[in-house]
Amino acid sequence: MDVLVILEESQGSLHRLSREAIAGAQKLGSSVAALAIGENADTLASELSSYDLEEVFTAKHELLSSYSADGYFETVIQLIRAESPALVVAGHTYQTRDFMPRVSAKLDIPFIPDIVSLSDEGFVKQVLNAKLNASLSSASDQIILSFQSAAFNDEEIRGGSCSARAFDVELDSSQVRSVSEEPFQEATGDVDLESAEVLVSVGRGIEKEENVPIAFELAKAIGAEVCASRPVVDSGWIDSFRQVGSSGHNVAPKLYFSLGVSGAIQHVVGMKGSKNILAINKDADAPIFELADYAVVGNVLEIIPKLIEALNNK
Ligand SMILES: Cc1cc2nc3c(=O)[nH]c(=O)nc-3n(C[C@H](O)[C@H](O)[C@H](O)COP(=O)(O)OP(=O)(O)OC[C@H]3O[C@@H](n4cnc5c(N)ncnc54)[C@H](O)[C@@H]3O)c2cc1C
Repeated sequence: MDVLVILEESQGSLHRLSREAIAGAQKLGSSVAALAIGENADTLASELSSYDLEEVFTAKHELLSSYSADGYFETVIQLIRAESPALVVAGHTYQTRDFMPRVSAKLDIPFIPDIVSLSDEGFVKQVLNAKLNASLSSASDQIILSFQSAAFNDEEIRGGSCSARAFDVELDSSQVRSVSEEPFQEATGDVDLESAEVLVSVGRGIEKEENVPIAFELAKAIGAEVCASRPVVDSGWIDSFRQVGSSGHNVAPKLYFSLGVSGAIQHVVGMKGSKNILAINKDADAPIFELADYAVVGNVLEIIPKLIEALNNK
């Protein structure tokens, strides 16, 4: 096998980022296998049966009945030692970030996380607040990679067949000492961002909490819902159930009207399916303009009040 994909479960079935990781793995190697861990390993393996994979290893053990960084770490290092894949890949999830650095350190295999695409020069990740793309490569015989949400399209997974093989992991309770809490669930509120047709998105360019009401006024004037980038949510200016991005909602409105959003990848993965994107940003080089259908270089605090006035006087 050239590439081993470490799978993750989400509520009993395959995590979306694991499917995307399979799509990425198929671009990287001709022989791809996967590893499903835990009591639902057989269910995950059956979801892969129509994919073009060499095989899927299923690792089950009473100490793997729920996720723990210790249990996953031990299982993954045992399979890497047994099969020596050139590449080990996974979705860039909280779980991957929890145990994969330890796998990298233990086996002395470089870990290149948060990849957004592939280039001729190597693995591409965003740096300097998404203003630049950097291509990274490694001279090592083995590399561990994690793929950012939407780096690959799971609709492009090559179909075929895949059989399951049990992997006998050796574990004892002295190795599995960490216990995970119940998975974190975002509060949902009563706003359905994912089916909204028009969204006004508030970024840090709104500058301060006192300015947030102008976004709600604009939304009211154009019949939109309000969403936000993570720093705006983290500052407590807007409720967390309105967050869009890799750790928030995935939205695909007819119009995404962004106010002072830079366009970092973690935000973009949650809104790039929007049919039309109108962005206002005072920085002409802001990455959001790379995907915007309509780009306005200017100050939202000057433009939006005038726009609201014009809309209300129609
Ligand atoms: C693990 C992880 C998960 C993450 N998940 C998410 C997520 O789900 N969602 C998310 O959004 N982010 C997420 N982030 C954060 C992400 O990396 C960015 O930091 C964030 O998206 C930037 O938000 P922003 O564009 O509002 O702010 P900034 O990057 O600070 O950009 C503000 C923009 O406003 C412009 N501006 C400033 N003043 C004005 C003005 N008066 N008028 C017009 N434009 C102005 C600036 O030019 C700048 O482009 C995550 C990060 C990590 C590490």
